[in-house]
Amino acid sequence: MRKNCKPACLLFILTGMLTQLQAQPDRWQQRIKYKIDVDMNVETNRFTGTEKLDYTNNSPDTLDRVFFHLYWNAFQPGSSMDVRSRVLGQTRISEPSRRSDGLDWDARVKDRIQHLTPDEIGYQHVTRITIGGVEQPVKMHETILEVNLTKPILPHSTVQMDLAFEAQVPKQIRRSGRDNAEGIRYSMSQWYPKMVEYDYQGWNANPYIAREFYGVWGDFDVNISIDKKYMVTAGGDLQNANELGFGYETPGTTIKPQKGDKNLWKWQAYNVHDFVWAADPTYKMITRTLKEGPLLRFVYKAVDSLENRWQKMADTAALAYPIIARTFGPYPYKTYTFIQGGDGGMEYPMATLIKSASVGTALHEWMHSWYQMMMGTNESLYPWMDEGFTDYASTRVQATLRNAPGFWYTGSYRGYFALVKSGLEEPASTHSDHYNTNFAYSLAAYSKGAVFMSQLGYIVSDSIRDKILLEYYREWRFKHPNPNDFIRVAEKMSHMELDWYKEYWINSTKTIDYGVGDINVKDGLTMITLHRIGQMPMPVDVLLTFKDGTQEMHYIPMNLMYGDKPAENAIPRTIHNEWNWTSPDYTFGTKRGIQELKSIEIDPSMRMADVNRSNNKLVIPD
Ligand SMILES: [Zn+2]
Repeated sequence: MRKNCKPACLLFILTGMLTQLQAQPDRWQQRIKYKIDVDMNVETNRFTGTEKLDYTNNSPDTLDRVFFHLYWNAFQPGSSMDVRSRVLGQTRISEPSRRSDGLDWDARVKDRIQHLTPDEIGYQHVTRITIGGVEQPVKMHETILEVNLTKPILPHSTVQMDLAFEAQVPKQIRRSGRDNAEGIRYSMSQWYPKMVEYDYQGWNANPYIAREFYGVWGDFDVNISIDKKYMVTAGGDLQNANELGFGYETPGTTIKPQKGDKNLWKWQAYNVHDFVWAADPTYKMITRTLKEGPLLRFVYKAVDSLENRWQKMADTAALAYPIIARTFGPYPYKTYTFIQGGDGGMEYPMATLIKSASVGTALHEWMHSWYQMMMGTNESLYPWMDEGFTDYASTRVQATLRNAPGFWYTGSYRGYFALVKSGLEEPASTHSDHYNTNFAYSLAAYSKGAVFMSQLGYIVSDSIRDKILLEYYREWRFKHPNPNDFIRVAEKMSHMELDWYKEYWINSTKTIDYGVGDINVKDGLTMITLHRIGQMPMPVDVLLTFKDGTQEMHYIPMNLMYGDKPAENAIPRTIHNEWNWTSPDYTFGTKRGIQELKSIEIDPSMRMADVNRSNNKLVIPD
């Protein structure tokens, strides 16, 4: 048996605690330890389980109640998730949409929940919850269990809770469930009574209606008893590999099989905020060992015709890791597992469920290990910080792998522009469940969120944005950063004020549009006027190109920034006085003669999300 925390890991936890002190001296976070034992019946697709929790209340508040997520109760006809999906299905999206039927519902969910039969629905029942042997009164709210404590949990104290529960694995509808389209028997996510996070904003008891998760940082010990034919995989480290085999065993050792019809799989995952597993009798596993990186596992249904794709994906993931580590920070856990399961791609700590061997999906889900699994933002409140940052990161990694920089985010910009044009845009600060349409949610979270990061490079320079990414990782991993926390890191690293960027880009739907105006000659200078047509102010880069082929970069900071970005290339640059955000016009000059000018171009890098680029470039006719 392996020890689970070697000296390197201890050092890791210690440095984590030290940085926590630095980053958020006044921000506490709760802590939990789960010990879960489950016994699966593969005939009935039901299991029973017990959960022992050590819950530490690090808050200054006395808690007289606690909450648990019981996600699978969403998979019942008439549930909030079912109703929500069918209501959204009544909205037709006229914009080019990814949904084949043009309706706004998630194509994977549609009205499928309504048609589930009693043995296909999902449920999670907590049959008993006790503290110190005393049963606790509960109140059910469909996917949320409210526990009214007989004795409140005092600040800075730890309580032990004992839960007994039983569950039926739903026929796979969304993310978790049994017998998905690819024939995987069990995709086990959101499968156990999961404590709701209590943070500086209070309880985050979001009913499960569609998306996005948030959890308490902690440690998991999970023992799974299941039919011997099944191979189990998980986001975690297997503790008894040499009793199980299936490729987990240390090479060269003899497997000591367990007695009986079932195997007991013992898993651990430390310093994470969720735990996923999956099981199938036809799974096989390949691995890639990285130099100074985690062991990558790929667990999938063995199908000869698809074998090559999984092998290729595994090679690409191994090639990607050094790029990921130097750009976004090292992956800290010992293993990461790409598991075939679910219904697309969904991220969990130390693992993902992906339906097939797609490099794009695999990299996206893996990058979630940074954005949400390590930088554990509240996805319900700030979906752009997990989906947007992740999309930015995986697009960038893929472009670097293909050696195609410069065209990284065109898809994200296109998505954002389509959102603006649709008239359906809502501020990206909208709670992810509360958007009026799935369409507006997905483009705001993914595309506008990715553009946030790319455009930040325009404002502070790409090189400083890259320092921000690493500093954000250093300060905020294993915590719950919010938008302001990210902005503060960005401000410190860039020596600029950036609150306006968050206010305009995230909290509003105001758009950017700058245009080139008149050219005049005054006092021997060629004077160029620019117009701010959109309501969102930005700093402006203007490239002047002359007929002799020479170029000048003119940089106009915006007054709310209180700072300048460094030059980003070798073109001679003039830094002008700041443009006050209230002024619709700005005029600057060049010493070169008007007759020498060939073209004037606002933001030639195209990183600024200008909604009307047709007025950004003026070419002077000969
Ligand atoms: Zn994602």
